[in-house]
Amino acid sequence: MTDVVVAGGGLAGLVAARHLADEGLAVTLFERDDRLGGRVHSDHQNGFTFDRGFQVVFSSYPAVVAELDREALSLRPFAPGATLARPGRRTTVADPFADLVAGVRTLFNRDITVGDKLRVLRLRQELLRASAEELLDNDGQTIESYLEARGFSERFRERFAAPFYGGITLDRSLSSSRAVFEYTFKMLAQGTAAVPAAGMGAIPDQLAARAQTSGVTVETGTPVESVTPERQERGVTVETPAETVGADAAVVATDPESARELTGCERIPTAGRGCVTQYFSLPEHQQLDTGNRLLLNAADGRPNQVAVLSAAAPEYAPDGSHLLSATFLGEQSADNGSLAAEVAESLAAWYPEHSVAGLELLRTDRIEFAQFSQPPGFRSDLPDVDEPAGQVYLAGDYTEWSAIQGAMESGQRAARSVVETRSPPD
Ligand SMILES: Cc1cc2nc3c(=O)[nH]c(=O)nc-3n(C[C@H](O)[C@H](O)[C@H](O)COP(=O)(O)OP(=O)(O)OC[C@H]3O[C@@H](n4cnc5c(N)ncnc54)[C@H](O)[C@@H]3O)c2cc1C
Repeated sequence: MTDVVVAGGGLAGLVAARHLADEGLAVTLFERDDRLGGRVHSDHQNGFTFDRGFQVVFSSYPAVVAELDREALSLRPFAPGATLARPGRRTTVADPFADLVAGVRTLFNRDITVGDKLRVLRLRQELLRASAEELLDNDGQTIESYLEARGFSERFRERFAAPFYGGITLDRSLSSSRAVFEYTFKMLAQGTAAVPAAGMGAIPDQLAARAQTSGVTVETGTPVESVTPERQERGVTVETPAETVGADAAVVATDPESARELTGCERIPTAGRGCVTQYFSLPEHQQLDTGNRLLLNAADGRPNQVAVLSAAAPEYAPDGSHLLSATFLGEQSADNGSLAAEVAESLAAWYPEHSVAGLELLRTDRIEFAQFSQPPGFRSDLPDVDEPAGQVYLAGDYTEWSAIQGAMESGQRAARSVVETRSPPD
């Protein structure tokens, strides 16, 4: 007997399934792929850990705090701030509250004006006081116009905000909603950006283990082909290639495109943003001095950013090697070799005193759909969790915002909605 079917085993589906099972319901989760985790995944090869694209988890995301055992993940943080790189020049931007010495160095960084430094500190104080929910709901402006209206200089926007928030929103033009900027700025002021020692895939692994401990039945390699609500709110029929399952309710927690197909819900956003991430090894003796910060391309977007993953998480590379990722935003028509040559050229220009002759391309991930587009006003267009007819509920980042936080929170909300409908609160 199944009370609730969950379609999709990404972060949203795993969280929803676990909460439903914790309420004593019999839950079956069907995942189309042979593995769980959806867009969050890691491969391990020859001692290297390759996440699917460059991803980090913010340790202060409320859903991360609520749903994950952060200690068991052994989070490996990047140092706060970033290194801004241009040909022949590197400077540091750091949070003086997190790292006093680097913060003082930031004071003398001529890539950012004194006025901008004061504006950052004021913004930090304001956002630390604001409620995270309110920040997300205030989404009617682009990041670019928001920063301009707050008086940030063009230099700050081009050299720091474009590559840093371009990396977060996969959009270097800063045309995404200010809500994403303010929310993530607040989270970074409250915590760190990190990767688990065993790779980002450890996040869904932990969620899956918790769901199964709560009693969820998980079937991978099983696509849900249809979800049909019965008349008069009487439950749902779910079809997979192997069986037809009757249940009281279904949570559709697939990617947006599949969710639209399964539910016919037109408000599900399907326009997306992608990226190309390349992984390189570098011999130990050629290690780049990054201060364990992200390297942002302050000159152009080729690539947008480089992360020395093994500086933050030594477990990501075998002894004697470093693992770097370089990310280009959007689809790229150039072949892997040409992109890798651009990365090598940029690194050589940023570190003229240093040889990167040992740089070796290990892998290229071309990710067509990483996040759904989040232009100003996007939040008011998102579908409600109970938008589909009958006992069909939506979970997935596309019901909140496109991030690990959005996905996990959507799972929590969908589970609450199912439970409240079964036994409405007094
Ligand atoms: C390259 C990249 C970088 C990112 N960077 C960050 C970052 O740094 N920080 C951050 O917070 N977020 C980041 N994100 C976004 C974040 O990973 C996503 O928002 C989140 O993982 C979405 O989770 P989800 O459960 O909503 O959807 P998904 O992960 O898309 O999961 C949906 C699942 O449904 C399955 N499915 C689809 N159709 C069916 C079907 N018919 N039947 C059964 N199963 C089906 C899919 O196989 C998949 O497993 C990034 C994403 C990518 C790809």
